[in-house]
Amino acid sequence: MSQESYSEGDLRNTGMSLKHDREWDYELDRIVDAVEERDADKVGLQFPEGLKRRGPRVADDLREILPEDVTVCISGQPCYGACDLDTYLMRRTDVFVHFGHSPMKESDKIIYVPLFSNVEVLPSVDRAIDEELEGEDVGLVTTAQHMNRFEEMREHLEDAGYTVHTRKGDDRLTHEGQVLGCNYASADIDADQILYVGGGKFHPLGLAMEHPDKKVVIADPVNNVLTVADTEKFMKQRYASVHKAMDAEKFGVIFCTKIGQGRWDQAEEIVDNNDNAYLITMDEVTPDRLRNFDMDAFVNTGCPRITTDDGPQFHKPMLTPQEYRIAIGEEPLDALEFDTFHGTW
Ligand code: SF4
Repeated sequence: MSQESYSEGDLRNTGMSLKHDREWDYELDRIVDAVEERDADKVGLQFPEGLKRRGPRVADDLREILPEDVTVCISGQPCYGACDLDTYLMRRTDVFVHFGHSPMKESDKIIYVPLFSNVEVLPSVDRAIDEELEGEDVGLVTTAQHMNRFEEMREHLEDAGYTVHTRKGDDRLTHEGQVLGCNYASADIDADQILYVGGGKFHPLGLAMEHPDKKVVIADPVNNVLTVADTEKFMKQRYASVHKAMDAEKFGVIFCTKIGQGRWDQAEEIVDNNDNAYLITMDEVTPDRLRNFDMDAFVNTGCPRITTDDGPQFHKPMLTPQEYRIAIGEEPLDALEFDTFHGTW
């Protein structure tokens, strides 16, 4: 089954996925307790892009229960991960709450509220068992949103006769079996197939690119769809970008200033060894912000997904650090791997 194939019950493009009754626990009691404990008068709230519209309602609920003199601020900065804390707001508030992601690094100052999904996952796992999984061994991974169902999924697979392989990954990940868009260390397991349970294709395509030798079965309980990751289109895009950059002379090397996206050593190494490479610092890496730089190609040392997923939108080729080394002839083209991000800050 290819990534683009559709089947009966597939809710993608129907708007139906929105009808799942999503009830998130914003853990307001935990926030109120922290405000009391710290005698706080300023509370900062940060939501990922998909949940920003819920921010004002959460602020309303909090304002109703908090003392009147407590000010609640909502971060308006873009946010795509726990790597992306609004440090400005964090410094100026006594309690800072980051919603929708699991901690990349614990801190007394930050309250992480994971907002687990209440979508049923086992029907999707059953469908994967019936239609795509083979053999006895299977790796199991999911995203932070479905982590609350991880043991349930593992037991279900075991009851169906599978030996389930899981691991925690590295310190960028909080939970066993958790993947991020930039880190699939939890899938370094001894099985030829991996079951990814979660919404969308953002994570599993990265997973399949990082583990090209494994079959990655995507069971999406949000859209009720089962597919097998197919990376061909993405890989072609990567090769095309590298080829275009082979003639480049001037490189803009981006160092991302977001707290969990900085890879200074990698950026510095490039500019130290290439007089035609220029270090550019920025937080949000967007096509508009780079348009005025007169470069032949860019190298992104920040979030790898900007390069792989948004790459075609930039006016010049956007490369990962390894793709840069391939473009300048330091590594062969067939060495190309998915760019992953390890460690925190
Ligand atoms: S670096 Fe990118 S992929 Fe990794 S956690 Fe942050 S936003 Fe997600």
